[in-house]
Amino acid sequence: MYMQHTYDYLIVGSGLFGATFAYKAKQAGKKCLVIDKRPHLGGNVYCENIEGINVHKYGAHIFHTANKKVWDFVNSLVPFNRYTNCPVANYKGKLYNLPFNMNTFHQLWGVLTPEEAQDKIAQEQSKIREQLSGKEPQNLEEQALMLVGEDIYNKLIKDYTEKQWGRPCNCLPAFIIKRLPLRFVFDNNYFNDPYQGIPIGGYNALINKLLEGVETRTDCDFFSSDWGLKKALSIAKKIVYTGPIDQFYDYRFGHLDWRTVSFKTRIEQTPNYQGNAVVNYTSHDVPYTRVIEHKHFEMFGQAVYDCPKTVVSEEYSTEYKEGMEPFYPINDERNNTMAEQYRALAMQEKDVIFGGRLAQYRYFDMAPVIEMALQYFE
Ligand code: FAD
Ligand code: UDP
Repeated sequence: MYMQHTYDYLIVGSGLFGATFAYKAKQAGKKCLVIDKRPHLGGNVYCENIEGINVHKYGAHIFHTANKKVWDFVNSLVPFNRYTNCPVANYKGKLYNLPFNMNTFHQLWGVLTPEEAQDKIAQEQSKIREQLSGKEPQNLEEQALMLVGEDIYNKLIKDYTEKQWGRPCNCLPAFIIKRLPLRFVFDNNYFNDPYQGIPIGGYNALINKLLEGVETRTDCDFFSSDWGLKKALSIAKKIVYTGPIDQFYDYRFGHLDWRTVSFKTRIEQTPNYQGNAVVNYTSHDVPYTRVIEHKHFEMFGQAVYDCPKTVVSEEYSTEYKEGMEPFYPINDERNNTMAEQYRALAMQEKDVIFGGRLAQYRYFDMAPVIEMALQYFE
């Protein structure tokens, strides 16, 4: 039997929100118990070691931020390496650099100068400019055409986006594509942020540091018959909940939809399979969206060849069904409205803190999730 209020916080979920919260709470002299329904800690950044390679079990994770405070915080726990994300797109057997930059424009059109590239894009945009005649783009298709024009839209955006989201581009919100940089310099760095990298030793090293000295339990579902809110509040003063918000309220307004990804992971008997961590397949001819070669996140130069095998994962984007991992919130009207209703309920809870991407039903990168957890202790 548990004593009354054994803990200051019961933290449901050991992802970056829960783990960062637990770290700061422990520093502040608070006693925490972290539970997770999965058989391991770390949430979606958890890596499995296969053949000496850290395999990103829940999809490739690249840490990037403009927030120096967050960067200094994570580096104070584990140093980060110099990995810079430079994905390559494979469209019908030809390779193009991403994000859209002078390398891409040269590969597509043979242009040599920024001026030539800008002229070409202006030509490509002329049809959509005429169509919109000053109106704001209303959907992802219009936004993409306004940004880069028809050729790039058709080769590098349309099919990839439809595979990823399972919906036509003209039924998707424009903001999804706004975060892709467009540059008239030869720079393949996918992110504009000044800080970027992977923790040396992998993400598990970061999670282990965050949870050092904190009591944790895996294979422990908050909604199993021997847990639940009543029991939780009998042992802890407050609950930090990082699971899905609709489940917390027993789906009273309905189920929120998600997009998810399934992975086909295999070992290849070669030290270097595709020469890059990320290759996107941007045509419908290939059923998966991208192929991740995990070793390139953490091995550089000779180290790639010192490790004789490699692990690759094909990513298949699919609609979420019960029992799958909820990955990306769906930002349509039905889901946004329902999520607002749940968030309004959550705001009224005095003893429960809702944190992280599942409890807020918002897509967050890692750094903002850490920032939000840190804010509770400022
Ligand atoms: P999570 O990591 O999902 O942790 C939530 C935890 O709660 C899980 O461990 C879950 O098992 C547990 N839980 C849920 N319900 C219960 C329950 N009932 N009982 C007990 N435990 C429960 N961000 C980047 O910055 N860069 C990237 O490159 C990047 N790539 C991504 C790729 C993919 C495919 C996805 C889906 C996300 C990516 N992200 C990336 C975002 C990143 O994964 C999130 O920002 C981060 O994982 C959020 O942490 P979290 O703690 O909110 O959630
Ligand atoms: N995108 C694309 N082609 C690519 C890569 C991305 O069209 O090769 C689009 C796609 O619509 C995607 C969006 O850009 O949803 C954002 O891409 P990002 O890589 O930021 O998405 P993530 O996979 O990290 O969610």
